[in-house]
Amino acid sequence: MSKLLIVGTVAFDAIETPFGKTDKILGGAATYISLSASQFGVESGIVSVVGGDFPKEYLRKLNARNINTDGIEVVEDGKTFFWKGKYHNDLNSRDTLITDLNVLADFKPVVPKRFIQPEFLMLGNLHPAVQMAVINQIPVRPKLVVLDTMNFWMDNTWDQLMEVIAKIDVITINDEEARQLSGEYSLVKAAQKIYEMGPKYVVIKKGEHGALLFHEDNVFFAPALPLEEVFDPTGAGDTFAGGFIGHMTRTEDISFENMKRGVIAGSNLASFCVEKFGTERMENLTHDEIQERLLQFKLLTQFDIELG
Ligand code: AMP
Repeated sequence: MSKLLIVGTVAFDAIETPFGKTDKILGGAATYISLSASQFGVESGIVSVVGGDFPKEYLRKLNARNINTDGIEVVEDGKTFFWKGKYHNDLNSRDTLITDLNVLADFKPVVPKRFIQPEFLMLGNLHPAVQMAVINQIPVRPKLVVLDTMNFWMDNTWDQLMEVIAKIDVITINDEEARQLSGEYSLVKAAQKIYEMGPKYVVIKKGEHGALLFHEDNVFFAPALPLEEVFDPTGAGDTFAGGFIGHMTRTEDISFENMKRGVIAGSNLASFCVEKFGTERMENLTHDEIQERLLQFKLLTQFDIELG
């Protein structure tokens, strides 16, 4: 079985949506990615850092889903990364109110021995220098390296981000970030500019409007499932990425055709994430629920039409 190594924040989040607000709850890019990828029965491990304030119970929640947390360093006298965000009424956009890097500021990642040779590597959202330090510790290039990032790192660590983007195969970002990264408004042009930075595949997430997968002159579109209720979009992008890389790791097939299925798997999982606050929905999700919704995805997009 292929191994999946996930890098990213493990965090406290405080979230405000039109439906309510939470105080510090479990969050972080690596948390959402790993919960999502765990649905594919792959062997996964996280590299990250938390402070002494991080409840052991949260680590146990991850372990319960067969996610290896040996690579999560605990800095006993430090504080965990903290993010606070507030969503606008349409839930499609949000303001970041607080980003406290805390222990992430001086983090020197160490990849545990068991994961030193992963076949699949997911560089989730965090400092690009940490993403790079992980790449540099892995002696044999993984089959597929996927990177996710956000405007915060484009604004604050542009050069380091460019260095790491040059080394990856697939980038997953949202539409606003794709425009910022490329300086292009058209997402087709944005993808072409991003190819020049390194990745051969570009995935652009458009929230409730689905996701686009670009490779050379090919484009594939996966819709988002129209949902009756969206409670909290936090982590949807990471859950999408976790579904994508989880599917790729389980199938071990890195063709464009299979990436299309990966994008559908990601959209499917993200549709669950937004139904409850924080990680709650992802912690209790079952295989049957996922399969049922995959069928809905199929029915949503299948049609017969006569050409000519
Ligand atoms: P998403 O909604 O998929 O963009 O991801 C939300 C998650 O990203 C939250 O759980 C936050 O803890 C985490 N997050 C927010 N800002 C950052 C950042 N600058 N770097 C890494 N992770 C972040």
